[in-house]
Amino acid sequence: MIPFLDLKAQYSQIKPEIDAAVARVVSSGHFVLGPEVTAFEGRFADYCRTAHCRAVNSGTSALHLALLAAGVGPGDEVITVSMTFVATTAAILYSGARPVFVDVDPVTWTMHPGSIEAAITPRTKAILPVHLHGLMADMDPIMEIARRHGLVVIEDAAQAHGAEYRGRRAGSIGDLGCFSFYPGKNLGAFGEGGAVVTDRPELAGRVSLLRDWGQEAKYDHVIPGYNYRMDEIQSAILNVKMDYIERWTEARRSLAERYNALLSDLPLARPQPPRDARHVYHVYAVRLQRRDDALTLLRDAGIGAGIHYPVPVHLQRAYAELGYRAGDLPVTEMLANEFLSLPIYPEMRAEQAAEVVSTLRNAAACGPAKPSATRRSIHKAS
Ligand SMILES: *Cc1c(COP(=O)(O)O)cnc(C)c1O
Repeated sequence: MIPFLDLKAQYSQIKPEIDAAVARVVSSGHFVLGPEVTAFEGRFADYCRTAHCRAVNSGTSALHLALLAAGVGPGDEVITVSMTFVATTAAILYSGARPVFVDVDPVTWTMHPGSIEAAITPRTKAILPVHLHGLMADMDPIMEIARRHGLVVIEDAAQAHGAEYRGRRAGSIGDLGCFSFYPGKNLGAFGEGGAVVTDRPELAGRVSLLRDWGQEAKYDHVIPGYNYRMDEIQSAILNVKMDYIERWTEARRSLAERYNALLSDLPLARPQPPRDARHVYHVYAVRLQRRDDALTLLRDAGIGAGIHYPVPVHLQRAYAELGYRAGDLPVTEMLANEFLSLPIYPEMRAEQAAEVVSTLRNAAACGPAKPSATRRSIHKAS
């Protein structure tokens, strides 16, 4: 049995510190937007190398408020990708704007910069690239196009804590960067959490207002807002974990190197990162043609493999009204059929990676799996 991820293993390593942090909050009597949140915001802004961080109650809320802070609203269009978790699209719709999908690059698996300009219209307000699986989108050409057309850039960095692109951290290149601290993310709370980072004080100020009912002072509501506040217990837990995030990220990266070496002779494709990229391996994904057979064989061997994501957002029934059809985003659709995510988490041992690969090797050698066995429920991973 090798799970896709193991949250209990991480807790058992840091249990005394976590338990003390939670107890400290419980006895302080201060539960929402207090000193733990402020301390976390300072640390996370430093980590992202941005001037400001505002913690909120989920990654989805972070995206929603980043869009609102940037002035995105009804009648606007936001260019994004369909190869992502649905939250990216949902947040655009919450803002009242319309998501416009462009395809991903078959080499990097992230937003294809060459497809952006054809999607720009007079209504386009923002570009929202996603740093898929922990590898940053090709930000230099994206920023260049955005600046030329006067568009805002919001990074969906929910899978990319600490990832780098040409020496710059995820979240620090666009106008705003959005993170999730859902438990399975690279930095995970013990519940929900998220953050917006930015270098621009006026954008940070707007996020502060929007997350707490538009209040400038208690009961002085200057704009309509939301209850998107982060609580003290989650911040206290994240403050403990900030001491470990780099160690855990390096553990993911060395497991990924192990996988790369072990898989080097198999006919699998991996994303080719842009130059000087630091991939943080939220997900270790490979591409292979007989993906469903491989997935079935891994799962039958007790290995928690997954797919991120099996059905792209533009083909989800929930978003049928956007009017996209199969064939509209050929690379996205091809990747959805060929992606396979192997287990990876900081506490995983190198021998376990070797076991995953030897099972995958057998899978490659086996004939087609029984069709009935390929219809398993999709594993929820992140
Ligand atoms: C997890 C995730 C989100 C949403 O974050 P939540 O904290 O679950 O709301 C958004 N975008 C991407 C790419 C994600 O992986």
